[in-house]
Amino acid sequence: MEFETVIGLEVHAQLKTDSKIFCGCSTEFGAPPNTHTCPVCLGLPGSLPVLNKRVVEFALKMGVATGSEINRVNQFARKNYFYPDLPKGYQTSQFDKPIIEHGSVAIDVEGEKKTIGITRMHMEEDAGKLIHDEREPLSYVDLNRTGTPLLEIVSEPDLRSPQEASAYLKKIHAILRYLDICDGNMQEGSFRCDANISLRPVGEKTLGTRTELKNMNSFRNVQAALEYEVRRQRDLLLEGEDVVQETLLWNPDTGKTESMRGKEDAHDYRYFPCPDLVPVEISDEWLEQVRAGLPELPDQRRDRFINEFGLPEYDATILTDSRELADYFEAAQVECNQPKKVSNWMMTELLRELKGGSIEECRVKPEQLGGLLAMVEGGTISGKIAKTVFETMLETGQSPELIVKEKNLLQVSDESELLEIVQSIIADNPGQAEEFKNGKTKLLGYFVGQLMQRTKGKANPKLANKLFNQELNK
Ligand code: ADP
Ligand code: MG
Ligand code: ZN
Repeated sequence: MEFETVIGLEVHAQLKTDSKIFCGCSTEFGAPPNTHTCPVCLGLPGSLPVLNKRVVEFALKMGVATGSEINRVNQFARKNYFYPDLPKGYQTSQFDKPIIEHGSVAIDVEGEKKTIGITRMHMEEDAGKLIHDEREPLSYVDLNRTGTPLLEIVSEPDLRSPQEASAYLKKIHAILRYLDICDGNMQEGSFRCDANISLRPVGEKTLGTRTELKNMNSFRNVQAALEYEVRRQRDLLLEGEDVVQETLLWNPDTGKTESMRGKEDAHDYRYFPCPDLVPVEISDEWLEQVRAGLPELPDQRRDRFINEFGLPEYDATILTDSRELADYFEAAQVECNQPKKVSNWMMTELLRELKGGSIEECRVKPEQLGGLLAMVEGGTISGKIAKTVFETMLETGQSPELIVKEKNLLQVSDESELLEIVQSIIADNPGQAEEFKNGKTKLLGYFVGQLMQRTKGKANPKLANKLFNQELNK
């Protein structure tokens, strides 16, 4: 029996505001525990929330960027549950009147394009953080994060493989980063994802029973956990067993999912409109302002890279995946005006060196990479020397001009200087010279190689070819 995989993702994006969603406390990460708190975010009786306007503005940006409907009147609701990281006993969230509904994003998996529906996005507050210390019979709670604004982005169950899920997640991440409304830092928890997954027989219309994988904080974990879950559910179904609807945790150490709890339904939360917060009304002017201020988004930038710089779609997609990478490309390209060369260097040498790290930490600045490629184009250094210069640039952060000067790597394009060496090489290799004259022209490579050896790779290759052809045919 063949099964179809069905996945829907819930992303929690921490919005990059200075203060919390309902009070003036700082959202700064890493402060001493419980120092960024006040009666509002501690949920003390009698305190009243005041909505942070920036949070609404950021949500609107994301709504417009994903072509969504904006609910011009939307409403906060209380989601009731008791847990020690939530002192109020309820989370202030949105329920039946979220700020955003019915949007979509485009994804591309190995050249196959697809549109993934966004069901809704709503504003809510984050909970605090529990710290469990195995050596002590108690747990600590840090409420600095309590009240940090989140945008929850819920997708339609439109994703059909772990790979598509990963592509969707990366696209959402990229859009948030381009909009500059979320720092996207997954280690610090600013971008987290719950993944819902079920299987159904191919051709079946109704959805199968799903499991929910909680709080995954890396693209790799999301994909690995989903792949594991596909296999696990498939094995169950093939054996005629049922998938239990439950919440699972991914354990990256064992490479398995573990049961966390049974799944709650919406009615368990006893949602009701928050009486402390009036409905949020969004004016035409405000929405227009947000629309007008929207920056270039990843898909638009990719298309521009194709049209303006003539890059292949593959290159353009990778380079515009992250805003930093795309900025780097443009800054390097301006220096040398050779888009495809910049792209090649970035996608091979540079990304390999970064090993998944951020490009902002790279010692080679984009102007320097552009400068290096301009030197190759201008004939100052050879392409081969450029690779060694680049290695030194990575190690030292020095400019290519300085390295070339200090290491004396300038390309030798002086004809008389090269001619002398060419003639002495021919004199040293009479046998090969004879064979060349008798038609074994492949030997040209051998001669050029000798020249490169003697000049430590600095000979201008075009000139070298020309001189050998000229001298050997005498
Ligand atoms: P909650 O998890 O809070 O109960 P929903 O029921 O709205 O919220 O679903 C959350 C996510 O799960 C959505 O992204 C939705 O597309 C996805 N989803 C719902 N049912 C299934 C299913 N049977 N298989 C896979 N994904 C599903
Ligand atoms: Mg859920
Ligand atoms: Zn506060």
